[in-house]
Amino acid sequence: MNYIVFDLEWNQAADLRTRRANSLLFEIIEIGAVRLNEQKEYIDEFHELIRPQVFHTMNQVTGDLIHLKMEQLENCRSFPEVAADFVRWCGGDYIFCTWGNLDLTELQKNMDYYNMTPVSEKTLKYYDVQKLFSIAFEDRKSRRTLQYAVDFLGIEKDVAFHRAYTDARYTAEIIKRIGEESVFKNYSFDTYRLPRNRSEEIRICFEDYAKYISREFPDKIAAMADREVIASHCFICGARTRKKIPWFTNNGKHYYTVVTCARHGAIKGKIRLRRTENNRIFVEKTMKQISPEMVQDIADKKNQIRKSRKERRHKKEGS
Ligand SMILES: [Zn+2]
Repeated sequence: MNYIVFDLEWNQAADLRTRRANSLLFEIIEIGAVRLNEQKEYIDEFHELIRPQVFHTMNQVTGDLIHLKMEQLENCRSFPEVAADFVRWCGGDYIFCTWGNLDLTELQKNMDYYNMTPVSEKTLKYYDVQKLFSIAFEDRKSRRTLQYAVDFLGIEKDVAFHRAYTDARYTAEIIKRIGEESVFKNYSFDTYRLPRNRSEEIRICFEDYAKYISREFPDKIAAMADREVIASHCFICGARTRKKIPWFTNNGKHYYTVVTCARHGAIKGKIRLRRTENNRIFVEKTMKQISPEMVQDIADKKNQIRKSRKERRHKKEGS
């Protein structure tokens, strides 16, 4: 299996009117990529600038950041031509790697805009190298800039940042420096294309937590009525658990629960309700072992919500 490490540069509408008139928010103007083999050795590269067809003025922020002028793009090939070549270049057996979680969504959005054959019909599994960097070298939670990571690892900075090919190359250099093989168990999933049915739903168990990504539901009520969405079995042994704190929410978007497994102790469940492009709902759920102190924190949070709801109600009745 190859690692296709890629980076995109995109332009956006220079003004509000142009933005409102277009269904595409970000137009890709450059694709840069590096291919690493199974041993994470450098094999090949892909790099091409793209002639814009949607936005014909360079957004000033974008232009300043990536040092590209419209004139440089005038004689380039169009997105469908370049993207088709890029997909061919990727080959058959590979996994995408990007710095952060934006590029794969934008690649697919741009390809859909031109009705191109999708790179995948299914939810794409990939490596978010920004996350891998945090897991390998920091606290798993922080998200650093590419430049920070390059400095941190003492990678030679021989080319400027913020151009697709160079950023892809730096990202590949970071991948090479992640020595711990277990870090690569931490896949990410790009939710631009969601599971189309129950059997395509994502159920994955990491070292210290489990993740579930659901199919689409028409609305929140349907999502929260689904048995698997609100299920809270132990993600380690699969056993039924005892409810300690039933599902509750503070904002209607995030739901929390605490359950207890006889063998594995307290487990926190968190549901995030997310809106799709077409205004439907899907669910990302995580289950994670927690300490007694964290159980107390969640109990406190729930009581706080109950208290402030009560106060609001009293105020209403009093007025
Ligand atoms: Zn268990």
